[in-house]
Amino acid sequence: MILRFGYADGSGEFYITLDSEKCDGCGVCVEVCPKGVLFLAPNPFDPLEEVPLALVREDARNRLKYLCVLCKGSPKPCVASCPNGALEHF
Ligand code: SF4
Ligand code: SF4
Repeated sequence: MILRFGYADGSGEFYITLDSEKCDGCGVCVEVCPKGVLFLAPNPFDPLEEVPLALVREDARNRLKYLCVLCKGSPKPCVASCPNGALEHF
C-alpha cells in the first residue's frame, strides 16, 4: 500500500510517500532526517505485524514545504538513505 503524506498549495506539491510493502522498519531514514519529520510506528493497517513502518509525524504533514526546504539535492537524504526504495519525496 502506498501511504501519502503532505499537501499541495499555490506554490507546489509537497508529498512524501511510503510503500508499506517495501519498508522493513530499519529506521535509517529516521536517523538521517535533520528535522525529525519521520518516525517509526506500528503498522496502522496490520496490528499483528511486528515490523514498524516509517511514517511522517502528524504535526509535520502540513509543514513539509518548510521543514524539508534545507535538504538540497535529488533525491532527498531520506529517499537516498532507504535501502529498499520505499520512500519518495516530491
Ligand atoms: S527532505 Fe529532509 S527534512 Fe524532509 S523528510 Fe527528508 S530528510 Fe527529513
Ligand atoms: S529507510 Fe526505508 S525501509 Fe528503513 S524505515 Fe525508512 S522507509 Fe522503511
